Amino acid sequence: MKAHDGLYIGGAWRPAAGRDEIEVVNPADEQVIGRVPAGDAMDVDTAVRAARAALATWAATPPAERAARLGALRDVLAARKDEIAGTVTAELGSPLPFSQAVHASVPIAVAGSYAELAAAHSFEEKVGNSTVLHEPVGVVGAITPWNYPLHQIVAKVAPALAAGCTVVLKPAEDTPLTAQLFAEAVHEAGVPAGVFNLVTGLGPVAGQALAEHPDVDLVSFTGSTAVGRRIGAAAGAAVKKVALELGGKSANVILPSADLARAVNVGVANVMSNSGQTCSAWTRMLVHRDRYDEAVELAAAAAAKYGDRIGPVVNARQQARVLGYIEKGVAEGARLVAGGPEAPREQGYFVSPTVLADVTPEMTVAQEEIFGPVLSVLRYEDEEDALRIANGTVYGLAGAVWAGEESEAVAFARRMDTGQVDINGGRFNPLAPFGGYKQSGVGRELGSHGLAEYLQTKSLQF
Ligand code: NAD
Repeated sequence: MKAHDGLYIGGAWRPAAGRDEIEVVNPADEQVIGRVPAGDAMDVDTAVRAARAALATWAATPPAERAARLGALRDVLAARKDEIAGTVTAELGSPLPFSQAVHASVPIAVAGSYAELAAAHSFEEKVGNSTVLHEPVGVVGAITPWNYPLHQIVAKVAPALAAGCTVVLKPAEDTPLTAQLFAEAVHEAGVPAGVFNLVTGLGPVAGQALAEHPDVDLVSFTGSTAVGRRIGAAAGAAVKKVALELGGKSANVILPSADLARAVNVGVANVMSNSGQTCSAWTRMLVHRDRYDEAVELAAAAAAKYGDRIGPVVNARQQARVLGYIEKGVAEGARLVAGGPEAPREQGYFVSPTVLADVTPEMTVAQEEIFGPVLSVLRYEDEEDALRIANGTVYGLAGAVWAGEESEAVAFARRMDTGQVDINGGRFNPLAPFGGYKQSGVGRELGSHGLAEYLQTKSLQF
């Protein structure tokens, strides 16, 4: 797609206040593929005013009509699926089949789910002698990361629009072209002017201005825990609602009765997909000591098979960071059994699929989010030890449990301090609430729980 040289505000593309630009780079070949405006605080203010102006009418629009616009948005995204996949591949670097199967398809499903939810949700309920109204929170400031560029946008904008809120989006610097394509789709779907607005720009400039804008009622942020903590603090000071989807360090717990080969192979695939840039990836594999050596061998073989098939990480800084973590793991005593800290290609920000064995729970690679194709394999003595290790980080976003019997895996999952657990390789469900325990975040996205984040209640007594 061709980059727009403006910001989408009040239903039209208009020039930014300043002249600063962001260069968009293809991480697979390091070529500049476009330039977009780097909006500033003035642009954010203009966009928030547009969203505020559109709020009363959109909030009063019957849910069925809001649902119709979301259905139209779903259809436009579906019609432009190949363009979406191509754009994500160009600016994120993920292989085209993965962009088609995940980056383009999941947001279509999520947009469709909110078209249905908007139509079916009851925005009023009776409680004794009261009528409780579920009203839109107001103007939403949405700030998104680059790792699933369209999914992160749709997971905020679709429920916000379904609820009757209006939105200003500040997408990630690395993937603004996907966000521009989304704005085109919103326009094509006939969403009224001002209901959705896009300001591309830098995090500490446009992002911060949006998070701190006094006329934003709810800040919904997905990104690093470091930035999330600052946004949460600013929102707290302003007594403003905030939703935070942050980092993770999820455990893949393989109980002794599990089908080991399947659990390891699916676990490795989970970590390597999207080049490890998935907040909910199961980056710590926990294996009983009796089956540990076999699991390490299987994991190394599975990672080696990925070889050249994974894409680059998003930029040079992330590449250096991920390679640095691999070096640190080895320096702290982990054993490298696949991949390593050398960049595998001269051009592009690639990292070899890497497996570290003999990782112990206190090592940096077992505690910090790496956000690259790096799996740590840890050894446990018994179930209690596995639980202690699984719960022993500041994060709690996702996880997996494998066992011979589903009920055994479920019993373990109930004791995990985490927001989402896949049982014996359970499938992704776009209606299941997604979000973190502990420092992985505040609030939930997707399905009816995601819709509830954008609603506030008023009770009328009779
Ligand atoms: P990041 O926090 O650097 O950036 C995320 C967004 O915040 C970007 O749009 C960025 O421009 C903006 N931003 C940066 N500084 C800001 C500031 N001071 N004020 C306001 N906005 C600011 O994170 P990233 O490197 O883009 O993304 C990777 C991180 O996101 C990882 O830690 C990952 O786990 C997390 N993540 C979490 C989820 C989840 O649902 N929990 C999903 C995807 C990614």
